[in-house]
Amino acid sequence: MSQNDKKVYGLRFHGRGGQGAVTAAQLSVMAWDGPAKCFPVFGAERMGAPTAAFARLSKDADMIQTNEQVYTPQYVAVLDDTLLRDVCVTSGTAPGAWVILNTGKSFDEINKLLGPNKLNLAKVDATDLAMKILGRPITNTAILGALAKVAPLFTLDQLNEAVRDQFRGAVADKNIELIKQVYEKVEVREPVIPYDEKSAKKLEWSHIEPHYPGAKDMSIGAVWYAPGGSQKVPTGGWGVYRIDFKFENCSQCQNCAFMCPDQCIKREKRADGMWYVIGTDESHCKGCRICVEVCPGKKGIKARTAILKD
Ligand code: SF4
Ligand code: SF4
Repeated sequence: MSQNDKKVYGLRFHGRGGQGAVTAAQLSVMAWDGPAKCFPVFGAERMGAPTAAFARLSKDADMIQTNEQVYTPQYVAVLDDTLLRDVCVTSGTAPGAWVILNTGKSFDEINKLLGPNKLNLAKVDATDLAMKILGRPITNTAILGALAKVAPLFTLDQLNEAVRDQFRGAVADKNIELIKQVYEKVEVREPVIPYDEKSAKKLEWSHIEPHYPGAKDMSIGAVWYAPGGSQKVPTGGWGVYRIDFKFENCSQCQNCAFMCPDQCIKREKRADGMWYVIGTDESHCKGCRICVEVCPGKKGIKARTAILKD
């Protein structure tokens, strides 16, 4: 495997609840030709609240094992330009990263909202096209058409195939037409700046930009990924269920590892190069039982069962 195959592409999708940012991340994984992983983060669970979804794409499965949010994205897709007011969509981006916007604004207007930056900007009025083609302001597939234009991640054919896997009949046809039109109409701010991967650095204490109001107060309660950070803080004590795991009944399908919302599935890489599920991180497991639901086990016997705590 060449060094280039170890490259990881980090994608972050910003949207509002109901706009389909999670589906966009999922479709990017489906269109990518190689191992990939995606996951969302939700704030208040209501329509219109800011949401984000992440995708990690690589040719090497070892490079996407982490379930951590993508803090230093090379590609940021913004499904709704009103988010530019509320969310720092450029957080963690290095010079030459791409920000792809669904907007009817000019590049000058976008520059004013983003402030001075060394980013690559692409824009398209995907909402307008979506209203004409889908009859609804859903732009998750559209933004991927813009992404396909500026990023070497997948071709239009690969994206269309993913859309056909996800949707059926006329819905798939309309989304493919939307993608085609977005691909043709997307505009790129010139000159294009090469990506400076070495400058991509996570903020040490928080994923909130320090210049934002309240950021200093938030730093203790926000994400702490320095050694000794939030992974050291047990959060599973309030769970009603304990998850019992039997390795001998585990088919290593990895469903639980992908579905656990709290990344509590313990895995290890063994000599054969494969990742094995070996247990549960009980100090962080909240007992939601999702892993039990999705566990096929072996020969009809689940490897995971939920046991009521005393
Ligand atoms: S019960 Fe929920 S939190 Fe615990 S390991 Fe299973 S999926 Fe994760
Ligand atoms: S879902 Fe069940 S069978 Fe699949 S890896 Fe997890 S424990 Fe094993």
